[in-house]
Amino acid sequence: MKIKALNGFKDIVPGEVELWQKVEATARDIFARFNFNEIRMPILEKTELFARSIGEATDIVEKEMYTFADKQITMRPEATASLLRAYIQHGLHVQKPIQRLFTIGPMFRHERPQKGRLRQFHQLDVEVLGTPNPRVDAELMAMGAMILEELGITVSLEMNSLGCPICRPVFREALLNFIDDRKDALCEDCARRSKTNPLRVLDCKNPTCRKQVEEAPSIQEHLCSECDEHFNAVQGGLTQLNVQYSLNKFMVRGLDYYTRTTFEFITKDLGAQAAVGAGGRYDGLVAKLGGPKVPGIGFAMGLERIILLLQQQEESADNTQIDIFVAGLGEKASELAFPLAHKLRGEGLFTAMDHEARSLKSQMKQANKVNARYVLIIGDNELEKGTAVLRNMESQEQQEIAITSLSTELLSIILPHSTGGNPAQTHDN
Ligand code: ATP
Ligand code: MG
Repeated sequence: MKIKALNGFKDIVPGEVELWQKVEATARDIFARFNFNEIRMPILEKTELFARSIGEATDIVEKEMYTFADKQITMRPEATASLLRAYIQHGLHVQKPIQRLFTIGPMFRHERPQKGRLRQFHQLDVEVLGTPNPRVDAELMAMGAMILEELGITVSLEMNSLGCPICRPVFREALLNFIDDRKDALCEDCARRSKTNPLRVLDCKNPTCRKQVEEAPSIQEHLCSECDEHFNAVQGGLTQLNVQYSLNKFMVRGLDYYTRTTFEFITKDLGAQAAVGAGGRYDGLVAKLGGPKVPGIGFAMGLERIILLLQQQEESADNTQIDIFVAGLGEKASELAFPLAHKLRGEGLFTAMDHEARSLKSQMKQANKVNARYVLIIGDNELEKGTAVLRNMESQEQQEIAITSLSTELLSIILPHSTGGNPAQTHDN
């Protein structure tokens, strides 16, 4: 019997690994531009670290952790807790009052595997420790946006504020009251957790829960003056850095440790696995883990989801159409085809040609491969007659065009319907 990898665990083989290398290299390059240092932590940690930081009443700690040794040891489900543990353990705050750290590596969560959701997955994780400055919040979001943008991935950035230990309890109370009246309509998880963790109900993905919370009170309207000021300053920073964002009062994130700013990079192209990256501020967490009283903020991006998006783009890139393939058959004909193709390109047509002047059959094959809408065939016979043949690849119709007026004729036939290099298969969106 053949032995296969475990469900939810994946090999990254040649052919795919190059994409991973590209993503990691891009991220590392941008981390360096933003003055971040790398840190690497072990994969195993004491279970207590995650229970204390992520929170007991969260999906991760309740049901997603790989634990063993009598549940005392856990394979890290995320990077922030481990990174802070290392930061505290090595007194990194003494070396530098503000630490800007990143790490890249595998995380483990026992969830139902799907496209973009694995049991071993990989994150790019960044954390800035030691400053409450709202500019850092904006700068981090801008850095995340820059990574995705340089990779050619389109996302939307959503953000919210979760307030602080002063204003959140007030909001929590208002939310509890609101939820209490609707408890019977909530999903099992939310009904059970609504008392201990009412905020989680706000971002439950269950459609009935979503409907129930539509009119829920907004945390943004319950912020204390300091949190409100911070929230506004973050938005001002994003505007200064020209980063597009929208506010989402439902975004609370699945981890308990967040304060003030939270944000997600969202894609429309991966179904339920919509979050490409997510993060936020956690001003009380370092102290809670036994470290100095320093604020912090960070985010993590899922590499698998980034890779999937890049692969989807590659497929559609393979689908791009070109306007015309210029097939010169024989030496003389390609002598004519060469500057003609250049002229057409200068006029805006997406044009391909074969410099080797191969056989008609071979050139038609190439034309098909690049999805050419038209093929212009210039052969010796045609040259003698002073004409070339234009073949419409879709309708299979052919027409003769006089060599003397080739480029003007071609432009008038093709240019009004130029593909613009667009995918052949048009999508509805
Ligand atoms: P989701 O809502 O999709 O479960 P999450 O809120 O649990 O995501 P985080 O804990 O914030 O995710 O992790 C940050 C990023 O890591 C996510 O935005 C996502 O890109 C990625 N990620 C999280 N869980 C998985 C997983 N099981 N497989 C692949 N990527 C994941
Ligand atoms: Mg999750």
